[in-house]
Amino acid sequence: MSNRNWVCFSCRITNRKSSRFAGEAICSECGGELKNIGYKIPVPPKSKPKEWKKLQESLASQARELERVNFKAKVQKRHDLEQELVKLKALPVNDGRQSLIKQLEKRLKNA
Ligand SMILES: [Zn+2]
Repeated sequence: MSNRNWVCFSCRITNRKSSRFAGEAICSECGGELKNIGYKIPVPPKSKPKEWKKLQESLASQARELERVNFKAKVQKRHDLEQELVKLKALPVNDGRQSLIKQLEKRLKNA
């Protein structure tokens, strides 16, 4: 479980590396970049290009999905902060609230 599979999709080869490996892995056949696919995903045999293609596509769609989810979470967070600010600003002013508003505005700017 301490090893990860690094694959080259053009050559359909697998290279097992320690999970602690943090550098950039290069394919020994084509010199291209190897992709870390973890240890859970079964690697298809070299003789099955269709399965490799499927694996590549499913990884790409997973990455897109993750990006979409992250984007949505970011938008949601901004929205929550905005709502919170609207609520706070509607309340009577006091020092504690003012500094909270400032903090939230700062977070919103960085969100
Ligand atoms: Zn290669």
